Amino acid sequence: MVEHAKKRISENMSDPKQVVDSEGSSSDETEQLNRECFFHIGNTRYLKGTFWDGEWNIHIRQYEWSATGMLYPTKVGIVLSLVRWAEILCHLKTIEETMSEIREGKTVKMFTHLGGNIYMSVGSPYHVVDIRQWWIPDGKEDLKPTRKGIALKFKEWQSLMKCVDELAKEIPEIEQTKPCSFGTDHSNQLSALQCKNCYPNEPIF
Ligand SMILES: [Zn+2]
Repeated sequence: MVEHAKKRISENMSDPKQVVDSEGSSSDETEQLNRECFFHIGNTRYLKGTFWDGEWNIHIRQYEWSATGMLYPTKVGIVLSLVRWAEILCHLKTIEETMSEIREGKTVKMFTHLGGNIYMSVGSPYHVVDIRQWWIPDGKEDLKPTRKGIALKFKEWQSLMKCVDELAKEIPEIEQTKPCSFGTDHSNQLSALQCKNCYPNEPIF
C-alpha cells in the first residue's frame, strides 16, 4: 500500500511553480500547467503526462531535490508516446502474473517491444519492471540496452498501476489510442514490416 500513489506533485510541495521541467525553465505558465499532470509513484519517481506540440507524451522519471529545494528531473527515465503507453496497457495482466511467479521464486522472463526499440522487461530473480531504450550496434545482430530507461521496483510499478485510471481521466486521448499493431495497415505482414515503430531495425540479410 503506497499512500502517496495518487498525490500529484503539486500537492506534495509548497509551491508547484518550483517544479522545473527538463529544459530547466520554470513551469509557471498557466497554459503549460493545464497541460501537464503528475503522479507520485514512490521515492522521487513520478508519472507525468505532458501535452506539447499537439501530442501527449507519458514520462516515467526519477527526480532529485536540489540544495535549494527544487525538484529536478534526472536522466533516469523514459518517454512514451500514447501508442507505446497503449502497448503497456495491453500487457498488464501478463506483467502481474510474471511478477507473482518471480515472488514465488520461479524462473521466468518477459520481454515486450513497446515500439522504436523500447522494451519492457521483467525477469527473475530481479524484482523490477524495466522500461528501456535498446539498440543494435552497427554490424551486430543483438539488441543491447542503453542507459536511457528506468527500472521500477515492484512497489513503484504497483503505484504506477494505481495511477492508470487517473491518468486516463486527465488524458482522454488514451482511451482512443490503440497499440500500433492494431492498425489496419498491420493486418498484412508485408505492410506491417514497413512500420518503423514496430520494426525499427534494418533487416539483416
Ligand atoms: Zn507498427
